Amino acid sequence: MTYKTIIIGTGPAGLTSAIYLARANMEPLVIEGWQPGGQLTTTTEVENFPGFPEGILGSELMSNMRKQAQKFGATFKTGSVKSVDFSKRPYTLEVEGLGRLQADSVIISTGASAKYLNIPGEQDNIGRGVSTCATCDGFFFRGKKIIVVGGGDSAMEEAVFLTRFASEVRLVHRREELRASKIMQDRARANDKIVWSLNRTPVEVVATGMGLQGLKVINNESGEEELLETDGLFVTIGHTPNTGFLGGQIQLDEQGYIIVKPGTSETNIPGVFACGDVQDRQYRQAITAAGSGCMAALDCERYLEAQEHAAATV
Ligand code: NAP
Repeated sequence: MTYKTIIIGTGPAGLTSAIYLARANMEPLVIEGWQPGGQLTTTTEVENFPGFPEGILGSELMSNMRKQAQKFGATFKTGSVKSVDFSKRPYTLEVEGLGRLQADSVIISTGASAKYLNIPGEQDNIGRGVSTCATCDGFFFRGKKIIVVGGGDSAMEEAVFLTRFASEVRLVHRREELRASKIMQDRARANDKIVWSLNRTPVEVVATGMGLQGLKVINNESGEEELLETDGLFVTIGHTPNTGFLGGQIQLDEQGYIIVKPGTSETNIPGVFACGDVQDRQYRQAITAAGSGCMAALDCERYLEAQEHAAATV
C-alpha cells in the first residue's frame, strides 16, 4: 500500500498538519515515536497557547490535538523512522516497529531536542524547577532566584527575558569567554538583575522534596566545589534537530536544521515538506510550530493535487 502522506512526528507541527490533511480527506498516516507529543509533554502548564485563558497542561494540549486529527480520519502508528529513501517516488521509510512504508509525500516534523547537562538530579527535576524553555516556564518563578546555564545567544536572551520575573538571574557558563554575539552579551551585562558565575562547570542539581536547593558547580580556576542557591534552573545549551535519520538526503544548514524554501514548508525534494522545530531555530514555540504544520499540510495538499492532475493529463 502507498499512503498519500506520511507525517513523521507528533508535536504541535505534525499534529496540526494531520488535522488539516485529515480534514481534507487525505487520510494521513502519522508515525509517532516512543515518546509521542514532542517537547510540550515535558513541560507542565502552557499559558501562552491562544484559546486557553486558564492555561492547559502540555500533555493535555497534545492529546487534544491528537484526538482532533483522529476524529477527521488520521491514522496513528507507533515506530521510529530509521532511514528514508527519497531518491524515487513513492518515497520509502524504514520504520523500526512497522517495517517498510511507502508514501507519495512526506511531512517531517520530528522537532529538535533541547540539550541537557546530563548531571545527577537534572532529569528527576524536569518540570519541578528544571526547564529548557524560559518562554514556557519563566512565569512560574516570579520573585524567585533563577540560574541560567549556557554562554550562547540563547542563554543571554533567556537570562534577560527571565529578569522580568526573577528577583535575580545567575548566568553560569563553563568558560570565561562567552560564545554569544557582542550585542546579546552587552544586553545581558547591562541588566543589573543578572549576576555572573563564569568558568564554572555544573556537576549536580541539588533538590529537596520541596523544590530545588541549588546547582553544584566546580570553580574551574580554584578546582573547588560551590553550591549556587536557586529556585529554578534553565538549561540553555543549545538544541539538536532530529534529522539524523535523513541520511543526508535533505538539505540541512550547518547546525543540522532542515532548510525550507522561505515562506513555504518545501524542502529540496519535491513532495517532502518540513515544519516545526526541525526547520526553525529561531522561534521554537508551540504556536509557531502549529502554524508551520498548517503550512506544510496546505503545501502538501497542493503538491498531491498537482501530481494527480499531471497523471490525469498524461
Ligand atoms: P550555542 O550557540 O551552541 O551555545 C551553547 C552554549 O552552551 C555554549 O556557550 C556552550 O559552551 C554551552 N554548552 C554546550 N554544552 C554544554 C555542556 N554540556 N555544559 C555546559 N555548557 C554547555 O547555542 P544557542 O545559544 O542555543 O544558539 C544556537 C544558535 O541560535 C546560534 O547560532 C545563535 O546565534 C542563534 N540564536 C540567536 C538568537 C538571537 O540572535 N536573538 C537567540 C538565540 C539563538 P561553550 O561556549 O563552552 O561551547
